[in-house]
Amino acid sequence: MTNTTLTGGCACGAIRYKLTEQPLIVHACHCRDCQRITGSAFVINLWIEKEFVQAGGRPKSFRLTGGTGKSHDVFFCERCGAYLWSFYHAAPGEALFVRAGTLDQPEKVEPDVHIFTRSKLPWLRLPNDVPAFETFYNINQVWPAASRERLRRMVAKTGK
Ligand SMILES: [Zn+2]
Ligand SMILES: [Zn+2]
Repeated sequence: MTNTTLTGGCACGAIRYKLTEQPLIVHACHCRDCQRITGSAFVINLWIEKEFVQAGGRPKSFRLTGGTGKSHDVFFCERCGAYLWSFYHAAPGEALFVRAGTLDQPEKVEPDVHIFTRSKLPWLRLPNDVPAFETFYNINQVWPAASRERLRRMVAKTGK
């Protein structure tokens, strides 16, 4: 991962954001919801504590039911419709999943892990050196220690 400050925004520029910390982990998610929301093969999400996402402008949201049965709020710009991040009620703490395609420099992040590859499109070949899981995974087996410690602190703080 990189040490540059990551910035981004929607397609029309009404909503800009800055990440004041590096992501906990970067997911490439190949689930059907992410394929539909992006209109593409998969989404790249930066999992990060909500407190580290500084947004200028207020995105709208709509609610889906996630694969876990818990709610999944999807945030988007009401002017241009670009989808900026998700809030998964099933995820521990208060975290956002920021869509890497909205970064000013999306090349600054790379997926640390591919998930829900059971619905990966068959023509897409994944790199051999990046972990991939049919569905989800065990955080303790995948996340670096520093990210696990940040997750522990976030959960302690938010009580969720
Ligand atoms: Zn916009
Ligand atoms: Zn997904």
